[in-house]
Amino acid sequence: MNFDFSLKSKILAYHKFSAKNEFNKHLKLISNRTDVLITVDDGDMSFYDNAFPLLKKYNIPSILFIIPSLIDTDKPFWWDEYFYYSDNQGNNNELNWLKSIPNKDRLSFLETLKQNSDKPVYKKKQLTIDQLLEMQDNGVIIANHSYTHPMVDQCTEDELREELSKTKDFFDRNKLNGFETFAYPNGNFNELAESILKEFGIKYAFLFDHKVNGKNPDPLRISRLSVNDSTPMTKFKFILSGWHSKLLPLIKAGHKLLN
Ligand SMILES: [Zn+2]
Repeated sequence: MNFDFSLKSKILAYHKFSAKNEFNKHLKLISNRTDVLITVDDGDMSFYDNAFPLLKKYNIPSILFIIPSLIDTDKPFWWDEYFYYSDNQGNNNELNWLKSIPNKDRLSFLETLKQNSDKPVYKKKQLTIDQLLEMQDNGVIIANHSYTHPMVDQCTEDELREELSKTKDFFDRNKLNGFETFAYPNGNFNELAESILKEFGIKYAFLFDHKVNGKNPDPLRISRLSVNDSTPMTKFKFILSGWHSKLLPLIKAGHKLLN
């Protein structure tokens, strides 16, 4: 599969879709433009329920980055498990810390949380292979978000190879088309991860950096703009203009000065 990303300077990254959303309006605006691409991370069931029917209606292509270890299971996303099993519901600071430690330490921290909790097991319905194939037949590229969604900059070489070889097997076995298109979980990346991606023949890798792409971006460092299904139209247009990403660092710096 080949994209011409030189035409797609604005690549939007979504996650979940509630039943009542602004996505319909986003799509109406996007349907007249050739410079925008829709991508969605994690493969939440709400994409199938609330976004896919609209994408089909407007005939707009999209990329869905899935986590193969969860497909056809009732296993939740690991960060949702973190909040569920934590005392006092956890917090974002601790979640960010968890994303910054070696992968095996993150896994054992989560395992301990689960074992120490007396709550009922948390279950979440995930997408099925049949749903993935149905979407693939209707213009959604089913793409690679790693096997278990670790922070790849916290993985060892062996862990990275395992993530990719299991994902490759899954894509081959199920005849899914987008293995070579990858989104870095959480946007984290480093040189080692990039070299392993190349080794596995990954052609495109997407960041999560809230930036617009320049002409001819590095295909393994493609920028994306962060939006969500409830982003109001005024803000959505502002983000698409590229000005939001230019001003955001200034707004953040301003906050630091004021606080
Ligand atoms: Zn993700």
